[in-house]
Amino acid sequence: MWHPLTLAQLEPELLAISRAKGGWLYRPDGSGLLDMISSWWVNVHGHGHPALVRAIAAQAKQLDHVLFGGVMHPAAAELAGALHRHLSPSLSRFFFSESGAVAVEIALKQAFQYWRNLGQSQRRRFVAFDEAYHGETFGTMSVSGQLSYSQNFRDLLFAVDRLPFPATWIGDEALEVKEAAALAAADRLLAEHGDTLAALIIEPLVQGAAGMRMCRPAFLNQLLAKFRAAGVLIIFDEVMVGFGRTGTLFALEQLAEVPDILCLSKGLSGGILPLGLTVTSEAMFAVFDADNWDRGFAHSSSFGGNPIACAAAIASLQLFAQPKPWAAMNRLQAWYQGVIADFQSHPSLGRWRQCGNILAVDFTDVTTDYGSAFSVNLRRQAANHGLLLRPLGNSLYLMPPYCLSASDLKIAKSNLHQLIATVLS
Ligand SMILES: *Cc1c(COP(=O)(O)O)cnc(C)c1O
Repeated sequence: MWHPLTLAQLEPELLAISRAKGGWLYRPDGSGLLDMISSWWVNVHGHGHPALVRAIAAQAKQLDHVLFGGVMHPAAAELAGALHRHLSPSLSRFFFSESGAVAVEIALKQAFQYWRNLGQSQRRRFVAFDEAYHGETFGTMSVSGQLSYSQNFRDLLFAVDRLPFPATWIGDEALEVKEAAALAAADRLLAEHGDTLAALIIEPLVQGAAGMRMCRPAFLNQLLAKFRAAGVLIIFDEVMVGFGRTGTLFALEQLAEVPDILCLSKGLSGGILPLGLTVTSEAMFAVFDADNWDRGFAHSSSFGGNPIACAAAIASLQLFAQPKPWAAMNRLQAWYQGVIADFQSHPSLGRWRQCGNILAVDFTDVTTDYGSAFSVNLRRQAANHGLLLRPLGNSLYLMPPYCLSASDLKIAKSNLHQLIATVLS
């Protein structure tokens, strides 16, 4: 095996998992870990949810896979229709792929070619936040910030204009100054280069891989209005924040501007099968509507729109239409308040922040890279204390599936206390 984002020398012992149910992952010896990070931010309803298992089995018997080029099948149609009812009416054209990075890559290609098709190929630059994360293909690494996983490929990445991200936390006194600086940077960029910009891409409300850095909706509204006024396309990468993470089904529900392009993946299929979506408007589609490949959009994914993944996504959306996951989110958010209260004055824990169902805090005494010895040790200790956690640098975060019971949360709290006492002793 060659494991993703894993330094074999630092992490010779892998965590063996052989079974899962609800919020729990089980090792071969039967011992359980609470999945506090939704298995890389994907699983939303818990593992092995009967409704998802049923939908997958039924679809596998009916139609397992068919190419999506020039072919239609009921699961894709039903999923697009169901999603459309949750989105703004203008987001009505659905382009399927199989992952988050590819969903973003497609958005970048669409934005770039949109301006070429309109005869405005001078609009070719992308704008993104410092330390953004949009995936690990070359295009998505280019719009991502300088994070450690992309540093070796810097020479092959295209240039992107950057904006500072006014990351905020509970009790942040410098917040307004940071927001004003970011808005001023946007004004300068638009004044100098506004007519060469193709699109702004953001992770709305929460930057994930950068360390669960959060910003206020009011700030984003001001920023987005500036780019909209300058005619720049707006791309929302909701690959992580989509499907309830920020407290609403989509982060865009908390924002005034509707994006021109929306990227979804991770929780889309309930977080159990690979599926990506790039959603855009009728107006955008019209610019590509053609009888030749100069104008048409030449992109394909072998497994894009896979019927089984679509069936899981339909079943997942149906679960979101019921009160249960929302009640679990309320329980989780109330529990977060208790966690913050318990650890607020811990001398080695600093900036607490919460957005909906994501809670994060920084370790103040350690400066550490992603996957460094400190975080590897913390992961191992967490597993020993019955928790699946995966810190980002010096940030510890919680983002469990929406199925944890009161007793699960009680166990999680007590395990967290023991873990913090062990690693910060
Ligand atoms: C995870 C993530 C991606 C990439 O998704 P993959 O399915 O891992 O390729 C893109 N954008 C954001 C915001 C993400 O969190």
